[in-house]
Amino acid sequence: MAGGIDLGAATNMWWPDRIPAPRNRRNALGVFDSVANEQHESVHFGIDHASGLQTIVAIHSTVLGPSLGGTRFYPYGSEDEALTDVLRLSKGMTYKAACAGLDQGGGKAVIIGDPAKLASPALFRAYGEFIDGLAGRYITAEDVGTTVENMEIVASRTDHVSGLPTEQGGSGDPSPATARGVFVSQQAIATLLWGSGDLAGRRVAIKGVGKVGMALAGLLFDAGADLIVADVNDKATEQAATRYGAKVVAVDEIHEVHCDIFAPCALGGDLNWSTIPALRCTAIAGSANNQLATADDGERLTATGILYGPDFVVNAGGIINIAAEAGGYTRGKANTMIDAIFDNLTEILTTADRLGIGTHTAAERVADERIATVRTETS
Ligand code: NAD
Repeated sequence: MAGGIDLGAATNMWWPDRIPAPRNRRNALGVFDSVANEQHESVHFGIDHASGLQTIVAIHSTVLGPSLGGTRFYPYGSEDEALTDVLRLSKGMTYKAACAGLDQGGGKAVIIGDPAKLASPALFRAYGEFIDGLAGRYITAEDVGTTVENMEIVASRTDHVSGLPTEQGGSGDPSPATARGVFVSQQAIATLLWGSGDLAGRRVAIKGVGKVGMALAGLLFDAGADLIVADVNDKATEQAATRYGAKVVAVDEIHEVHCDIFAPCALGGDLNWSTIPALRCTAIAGSANNQLATADDGERLTATGILYGPDFVVNAGGIINIAAEAGGYTRGKANTMIDAIFDNLTEILTTADRLGIGTHTAAERVADERIATVRTETS
């Protein structure tokens, strides 16, 4: 049975009797400032000694609806790193849902550890019990390091799981849907830049050919694009080369490749003070969450003139696919909803151009305004 500590940023603060409260709780845990900075609603820590589960769930906003976001299972270097990641990712989920026009809030969970060593049915059962204790304020799904099969085990302990297999009425692995959203985003960018969404002959560099990156490579290959890929996993790059004729370059070179579109599809932070000056692409559109390492990097990127498709707009296909479960999931319905990213992104990019602001800032404004409107209507 999983135990937990809840750190309500604003409400629901409690401290379990069996755990002695530290004399100075704020300094002992050092998280309240981070939670307050980005206005998260609450953060929840769960542990299960028997299975080794250590998890953090961050609920950023439930203004538009229950918070939704996947579970990342990753060998973080420290608890601080895990907390920083879950706080940033959950805020990104709020923006993603808001920009996509979904009635959902933003949340995210991380499980600390190497899934190859730690993942077990017992751990996912304990995790399911912990999620159930949040009473639907957070709905989970798979993410980096977790699979649909893991989520089936979680679902044996809680109803608050999405993206279950299609045979069970769920929408299945969201990755192909996310890849579709990235692909239509690239078509939208091509239309704005080159007057046609046809990607035939365009050079696209993909960093990270995992679940999303590989599916994106397939779509681009079918569209006639030339591919350049890099991944820390040699098997993945070999597969991309064999299947899609992709040229393989080193991981620390991919952002420097001369190309039309750079697609970061690995982990976050790839657009930073060191990589941005070296970029040789015309546009960026990829699936990775939190591609900009810091807010300053957004400004830095805008100054280069490279057209950036804000990550939380471009990679919304997965969450839209999950939202399509409402009222009964069909692939056709989901695809129609995902393809709306084309118009959504086009509007954000043209608004940014008209106002002379960064595209990430324009996207954040769209999300902030929608949340503020709903908050006012419901208060
Ligand atoms: P994945 O784990 O299947 O793929 C990630 C790939 O990146 C792997 O092949 C991995 O080897 C590679 N990689 C890791 N670190 C790398 C590095 N430093 N350099 C190069 N390659 C590296 O994950 P995924 O589901 O394909 O997700 C990719 C990204 O897209 C993540 O940031 C994820 O949060 C984001 N995302 C995914 C979805 C989805 O539906 N899966 C939805 C929205 C956002």
